[in-house]
Parts: sequence; structure tokens; C-alpha cells
Amino acid sequence: MSSESIECAVIGAGVVGLAVARALALAGREVVVLEAADAIGTGISSRNSEVIHAGIYYPAGGLKARLCVAGRRALVPYCREHGVPHRMVGKLIVATSAAETELLPALMAKAAANGVDDLRLLSAAEARALEPDLACTAAVLSPSTGIVDSHALMLSYLGEAESRGASLALRAPVIGGRVADDGIHLDVGGADPMELVCRAVVDSAGLGAWAVARSIKGVPPASIPPGHLCKGNYFALTGKRPFAHLVYPVPEAAGLGTHFTLDMGGQGRFGPDVEWVTDEDYTVDARRADAFYGAIRRYWPGLPDDALVPAYAGIRPKLQAPGEPARDFLIEGPSQHGVPGWVALYGIESPGLTASPAIADMVAEMLA
Ligand SMILES: Cc1cc2nc3c(=O)[nH]c(=O)nc-3n(C[C@H](O)[C@H](O)[C@H](O)COP(=O)(O)OP(=O)(O)OC[C@H]3O[C@@H](n4cnc5c(N)ncnc54)[C@H](O)[C@@H]3O)c2cc1C
Repeated sequence: MSSESIECAVIGAGVVGLAVARALALAGREVVVLEAADAIGTGISSRNSEVIHAGIYYPAGGLKARLCVAGRRALVPYCREHGVPHRMVGKLIVATSAAETELLPALMAKAAANGVDDLRLLSAAEARALEPDLACTAAVLSPSTGIVDSHALMLSYLGEAESRGASLALRAPVIGGRVADDGIHLDVGGADPMELVCRAVVDSAGLGAWAVARSIKGVPPASIPPGHLCKGNYFALTGKRPFAHLVYPVPEAAGLGTHFTLDMGGQGRFGPDVEWVTDEDYTVDARRADAFYGAIRRYWPGLPDDALVPAYAGIRPKLQAPGEPARDFLIEGPSQHGVPGWVALYGIESPGLTASPAIADMVAEMLA
């Protein structure tokens, strides 16, 4: 088996790993991205809502709040400057009962604490003036919410990283390794197995982050948190789309509620729902549509029968078990676990796509 040395290895070519590779390469570091699959972005990064989140929902001061707002502020100009398709279509968060209407001011206060200061509280009539098919008791308009072509974003991050000398190895799964005095040794499998000796390693393997960390001897097991899988199923809308804005219900415990989003091609879809699972199965059970019809008709009574078809599913890497309170992103560097050069990212669920530029800056700083 051959052995090579490199300054930095990033494990995982999803949107976060590629953003990290770009940031490290722009900082003048030597970088290789190791990806188990045969293409970039086949994991969580291609199975999400592709929404640029404003940063409304997350507890103030936490990583999700800070990195979402900073990420969005960096991402929108980045997309503009690099020709990444995106549109700031805006979003309505809709209350459909008096009890939900009462929750909206607290949501706005939470957003303001995060630095999201452009929300507007709308009456039912004002909301319907924007979206005539909407049924609601009140709504909040977020103008700083948009959609982005996540694959184009990943290609852009990769292109920039490569133009600064970074390289990408596909079909290169990290299958083990050890922490040694001369750096972190990674065992890379695939057709040409090799050992890579790295000064710095970023474990950005998404759902695989736990398995990667556990496979490296010398990473303290106590630093690896418990992990859980939470599937989100999507249904595509056949026929004309009802809304120009994204439409979200008032958020629920493990997700943002069954919301309406658009892709860059203008196709409408609903989801993701919340289904706790124990394995990575992306099949969408058509029977789950029953719950979608009920949830959607609360804010869109005009949803026709049989208009929803199973589309796709994504899986959220969760730090909390079902029923436990929501947890923040966990980004651990040497000062947390004591292993020089090792940075591990766990639980990078939504808003990880939006936050990707800010997560990358944080990781690059931890390794500076
Ligand atoms: C249902 C859902 C909806 C979401 N909606 C949004 C949204 O609208 N807006 C938003 O901002 N965020 C959203 N997110 C969150 C966002 O999609 C993720 O935070 C982001 O895509 C995570 O990227 P990643 O690079 O960490 O993971 P991934 O994209 O999964 O990348 C990890 C990569 O690591 C590779 N890998 C795994 N194990 C190994 C190994 N041993 N060796 C080498 N490679 C390995 C995998 O093949 C994969 O390519 C959503 C997430 C979900 C699940």
C-alpha cells in the first residue's frame, strides 16, 4: 500500500466539505477532498429543500443562528458573483389558528435576536393580497429567504478550490486511521488503497461523520456524540403551483413543518416531514401523503385530491434522539478534544447549506 503526505484532508464532498476545502485552499493550504461516492454532493447536500434560510428559528448565540445569518450574508453575494442560480423569492410563515398567531411575535423576537431584522407581521388580508390562495389567521413575511441551485453551488466551491490547487479524490472512502506524532494517518480504501499522512483532517462526512471518527484510533470516544437519523420525505405537486413565495407553517419539534418550496425550475414541492429511522433508506412511502394533505390544507384548502406524488427523501443527521430538545451543530476542534489537527462536524442538518460559507470560515480558523 502506498503512503503519501498532505497538509489538509477534507473527508466528504458535500456542500460543507467543499466549502471547507475552498476556504482552506484560499488560505493557501494544500488540500485533498476524499469522497467515498463516485460524484460530489450525492449525500444530504442533494436531498434537501435548497432554501437559503434567513436565520429565524434558532436559539440566539448558538452556532445554527450565528452561522446561518453569517452564511446567508456571504452566500447571496457569492452566488451573484459566481453565477450560481438563486432567487430571493421570500417566505411566508403562516399561522392557521389563534393559538399559532400568538406564537408569531415570539418567532419575530427570536429572529431579531439573531440579527434578522427585516421580518414583517402581516394580517390575514395582507398575506392573501400577496398569495390569494392562502388560508391563514396571520403571517410573517421574510424577504431575506431564497432558493439556490445546490449542485451549482457545490461545483462553484469545487472549481474555486481546484483553481487554488486543491484536488478531489472520488471513490476514496476513509476506512480507518490513527493519530500519531507526525500527524493523522488515514487509511483510504477503494480501487487504489493508500495511507495518507495529514497535518490536518476535517471530518465532514455528513451521516458518515460518526463512523469516520470512530474508525480513527486516538480520537477520544468521549468526544463523539450520539447520533440519530431523521428522514424527511418530499412530495412533488402536479399541476400549477399555488404560491410565488415559499410557504411554511409555524415550526414543529424536529423540523420546520410541511412547507411549500420551489426549485430553480419553478417546480413546487411539499416537505420534508419528520420520520425517525434507523437506516439510510431513501424510499418515499406513498402512504405518507395522507398526513401531507391534512397539513397542507390547513394553509392551502384548494389542494386538489391526488395532486401529490412521492418525490424524494433526505436524512437529517440529528444529535438528539426522538422527543429530546433540538440540538445545535457540533463543530469540535483541537481545543475541545485535544487532538492536534482534527476537526469533526456532527449534526450538520438544516441550515447547513445556507451556513456552509460561515462553517468553512470557522473550520479554517480552527486550523489556522
Ligand atoms: C430533509 C432536509 C432538508 C434540508 N433543507 C435545507 C435547506 O432548505 N436549507 C439549508 O440551508 N439546509 C438544509 N438542509 C441541511 C443541508 O442539506 C445539510 O446541512 C448539508 O447538505 C450537509 O452537507 P454535508 O457536506 O455536511 O453532508 P453531505 O452532503 O452528506 O456530504 C458528506 C459526504 O461525505 C461522504 N462520506 C461519508 N462517509 C465517508 C467516508 N468514510 N469517506 C469519504 N467520504 C465519505 C458522503 O458520500 C457525502 O458525499 C436540509 C437537510 C435535510 C436532510
